[in-house]
Amino acid sequence: MSGWFYKVAYPCEQAREFMYDYLDGQLPMFKQFRFQIHLNGCTECREYYLLYKKAAHAYEFRKENPPPSEFLEHTLDFLRKEGIVGDDDPATAPESNPVVQS
Ligand SMILES: [Zn+2]
Repeated sequence: MSGWFYKVAYPCEQAREFMYDYLDGQLPMFKQFRFQIHLNGCTECREYYLLYKKAAHAYEFRKENPPPSEFLEHTLDFLRKEGIVGDDDPATAPESNPVVQS
């Protein structure tokens, strides 16, 4: 592929604009095709695209795999045992624990 061809298919700014739609699967077929042509010819945009794709995947992964609540519980247990956090900590004390005041 000759150097000018991909630049004709898309200028870089436009290719990067379409990147988000492309990853979302929102880009029309003929635009996808031209986007791919640009990516094939333009190292800069290809690196940008791969970086963006990685970031998007990392975000999706975090969204779908939040840290388990057991992890938080274990940490709190440990802190209570070590005496760092008291059992009467208002943030962790169960609410169904009536205090008898007479
Ligand atoms: Zn480019």
